[in-house]
Formats: sequence, C-alpha cells, structure tokens
Amino acid sequence: MAATTTATTPDETLFERAAGGLHIGGIPAGRLAERVGSTPFFAYDRALITRRVAAVRAALPADVHLSYAVKANPMPAVLHHLAGLVDGFDVASGGELRHALDTPVSADRISFAGPGKSTAELRQAVAAGVTVELESATELARVRELADDLGRPARLALRVNPDFALKGAGMRMGGGPQQFGVDAERVPELVAEITAAGLDLLGFHVFAGSQNLRADSIREAQTATVELLLRLADTLPGPLRYLNLGGGFGIPYATRDTPLDLPGVGTHLADLLATRIRPRHPAARVALELGRYLVGEAGVYLTRVVDRKESRGTTFLVVDGGLHHQLAASGNFGQVIRRNYPVAVAHRAAGPTADAPSETVTVVGCLCTPLDLLGDRVELPRAEIGDLIAVFQAGAYGRTASPSAFLGHPEPVEVLV
Ligand SMILES: *Cc1c(COP(=O)(O)O)cnc(C)c1O
Repeated sequence: MAATTTATTPDETLFERAAGGLHIGGIPAGRLAERVGSTPFFAYDRALITRRVAAVRAALPADVHLSYAVKANPMPAVLHHLAGLVDGFDVASGGELRHALDTPVSADRISFAGPGKSTAELRQAVAAGVTVELESATELARVRELADDLGRPARLALRVNPDFALKGAGMRMGGGPQQFGVDAERVPELVAEITAAGLDLLGFHVFAGSQNLRADSIREAQTATVELLLRLADTLPGPLRYLNLGGGFGIPYATRDTPLDLPGVGTHLADLLATRIRPRHPAARVALELGRYLVGEAGVYLTRVVDRKESRGTTFLVVDGGLHHQLAASGNFGQVIRRNYPVAVAHRAAGPTADAPSETVTVVGCLCTPLDLLGDRVELPRAEIGDLIAVFQAGAYGRTASPSAFLGHPEPVEVLV
C-alpha cells in the first residue's frame, strides 16, 4: 500500500475545540461517548449541516433547487433534518427511497438515479410518484410496462452520459464509456421513442463525478453540461421542466487540500442561468444534487484506544474501531494514494500540553489486516489506553460505504447531535 506521511492539523476541521477538547453539537466528546453508551460511534453535528446548507444557498442563485444525494449519508435522523433544509432528495436504491419517503419531502421532489434498478424498485418508484432518472433504453421499456400495469403515469427524466469528462474529480462518473446514463449521441433517438409512446419526459440529468475541489473544472463542467442539455432539450416535444446539473463538490481531506471556492461556482452558475438557461426555459426546475459537500465535514468517527504499543521504533495506538466502519479513512475507498484524514485525541483536541507533549504515532484499527490504518505517522498529543480518538470528515461515505460485516464486529452507533 502506498503510504505518505502527512502531518495532521486538526484545526482545519469545523468542530469546536474548547479548552476541554472536542465538542460535538456543544457537547464534550467524552460526555457524548458516555451518553451514546459504547464506542466506536459516528456523531453528526446538526448545526454544522444547517450552516453548510445555508452557505450553499447563499452562494447559489435563488432559483436553483438544492437536492441532497442520500447515499452520502442515509441515516434517517440526518434525512429528517435535511428534509427541512433542502428542496429534494436524490436516491439510488429502493431502500433509500423508502427512507426518503418517510420524510416530509414530497414525492415529486425525489429523484431516483442509478444503473441496474430492479423491476421491484422501479415499481416502488412509479407507485410513489418520484422521478425516475432513466439510465438505459431497456430501463425505459421496463418502466413503460409497469406504469401500464399500475395504471399510473411515470415521472421520467433521462440521465445523460455526457460527451466530455469532468477534470479534477476524485471519482469520475461521466464521459467515455459508462454504466451510468444514456450516451449523449443516443439521447435524441430515445427521446423520440419516449414521445412516440406518449410518455412525459420532464428533462435531463447529468452527474459527471464526485469529490472535485477545483472550482474552475466544476465551472467548465457546468458550462459544458448546460450547453449539451440545451441542445438535447430542443428534441423535446414540449417545454423543458427539469434540468439536473449534478454536483460533485469536494471537501478537503488532507492538509494540502484547498477548500472549494463555493462563491466562484455560484456566480458562474448565476451567469449560466441568466444568459443561457432562463432566456429559453424560464420555468424549468434547475437542480443541483450534493451529498458529500452537505454532510461530509459535519461528521466525526469516535473510537477508543484499546492498546498502545511500541514496535521497533514506531508507536501504535490500537483503537476499537477501524476500516469496517470508516473505510474511506483507511484509504481504501477509491483513493489512488493513501492520505491521512484529520485525526485528534478528543480531550486534547486543542493541541499538545506540557503533560501531553506531541508525539508521532500510527493509529490502527482493531481488524486483523494491515489495511486497517486510520492515521499513518501522525503528530498527536500523547494518548493513553481509554482515550477517545476522533477521525474527522466522517459525515459522508463513512458508515454507509464501509464493509461492516468484515471480521464480525458490532455495527457502529450513529447519533445526530
Ligand atoms: C453519488 C451521487 C451524488 C452525490 O455525489 P457527491 O459527490 O456526494 O456530492 C449525486 N448524484 C448522483 C446521481 C450520485 O450517484
């Protein structure tokens, strides 16, 4: 495994570090751990999520709808909190759809994307009245059949695999050959088929990639997406009603990551709306869907030191959590090069002290595999057995993207504070 040494400066995370250490939702981490009753656990800070959504709203043009991509963090309490803040949800499975429908968000503000939707999931979606974002011609055929069967029209949008790729994305999901969406050049043909069948196509969706920290490449992708979708909108028999421009806004994970220039993205989008979209499609619902950016920095994974050992010059802190709960922090969730996520000793999060000077340690999880690495040679104030370690940036693709059955440990608890 490629290992790089990156000194961790926990000051970059959004959580409050009072003299007593790390606070989550105003509660000291140690007391929160007692309240939760066991470690390890994930804690999500309600106020940080609220603040982030407000920042996005402030930066984006007012008539852009903000949708939350549930797969980033599907915890029901998080969804309920976000239901009052965003305009809609994007789901990617029948299970996520059920959770989304449990919230006050109305069905016509829920979109269902994803390749390989099963017939049962498509039935759920049509019965619920959510927007199905079609990913292929065969999916269209299946939706047609079961909409007939249910005696209910399907709300349809077409996910387009663009003819360009998003630069700078940590994970690319558009351009070139893809399992996602319909290739742009084949869209006119499919639109004709949908029209001939008397079905109602609301509009289009492009999601080109995830974890992008570069405002310039997001701007470039949004321009290209708008131009492509405006061209495709000309093939529709009626007015364009829905234009989902995707998202993919990234968050900083390592010290040298620069946070995204959000206003720089927002002003460009306002310009695109004013000059390109609104003149032709005044009433279309223009949406962005964000997952990681809304919740990623609002979560922390808390795990307790169960052993402290020296081995040939390296000090290891062995904790009771690990990659089975927080795979991404171990560097095994699509990363090319492993970089440390920010970590801290929770009650010493304000930094080292005379009785707890800084030391270089390697924080490993409790799984019997060398992949279970949470902090490789990080600088931390001295920690003892029983101390809580905080792994930051754990609010998105944490528990939900981790192999929790691996090695048979209990599931982690999640709390929204
Ligand atoms: C995963 C996903 C998202 C969210 O991506 P983030 O990088 O977390 O913002 C949005 N839309 C679709 C279709 C997705 O599959």
